[in-house]
Amino acid sequence: MSADKFFQKIALLRCPVCGAAFSQCGASLRCKSGHTFDPSGKGYVHFAPNAGPSRYDAALFEARRRILTAGFYDTVKEAIRKAFPKDANVVFDAGCGDGSFTKALQGKTTVGLDLSKDAIRLAARGGGPVLWMVGDLTRIPLQNDSVDVILNLFSPAHYAEFSRVLKKDGLLLKLVPQSGYLREIRALAGLGVYSNDAVVSHLAEQFRLRDRIRLTRTFPLTEAQARDFLVMTPLTFGVAVESLDASRLTEITIDVELLIAKV
Ligand SMILES: [Zn+2]
Repeated sequence: MSADKFFQKIALLRCPVCGAAFSQCGASLRCKSGHTFDPSGKGYVHFAPNAGPSRYDAALFEARRRILTAGFYDTVKEAIRKAFPKDANVVFDAGCGDGSFTKALQGKTTVGLDLSKDAIRLAARGGGPVLWMVGDLTRIPLQNDSVDVILNLFSPAHYAEFSRVLKKDGLLLKLVPQSGYLREIRALAGLGVYSNDAVVSHLAEQFRLRDRIRLTRTFPLTEAQARDFLVMTPLTFGVAVESLDASRLTEITIDVELLIAKV
């Protein structure tokens, strides 16, 4: 059963409401205060029942999945994999979206969390061992000092919670856009040059930044891929560009930085 994987890893989990450990109560995860969460037969747990509707819809995550699995990010995934410690036991993807990166970067135990139910439903489709969670980064349903690697890829961070769940010698691998990222779309939309300076300095205030690896490459695009890039762009830049003419987008630049940090 796809719910069983959560009971097998129950010692890793904790209640997102009160922080207490869970025990199994029938088909539910239950803490000593009585907060109860039921793993779905579809392979995920909904830990944020009071979350409002997502700003992003399923079509956007579907477009993102097609792009993330089409090869544009293969070099990026490889760089992340190379940064992994050899004995990565627990990997936690914080803000995992549709789970394309999560599945490519698994540890012995892998957890993918996102606030969007649409994204997690898409991630969990097809089964597999990853523990998928709809949840809030400010209340991560994982125990203290339990995670070897936190992945935080094109996603907001919550450093206090990251420090709490990460083991003392654990790694934070954060992927952020660099100035040339999707510059063809930014040009088409009349946007200025992007800078990740504020994101990087905020990280460096909270964690010890060990390395920065920049990866840049420009790819030719089919028109269908151009449309998918335009649809998924709000996830990265918060701009609505669906109305732009995809036929004018014939190539795309992936320009990112992998930030490697420790507590
Ligand atoms: Zn509780």
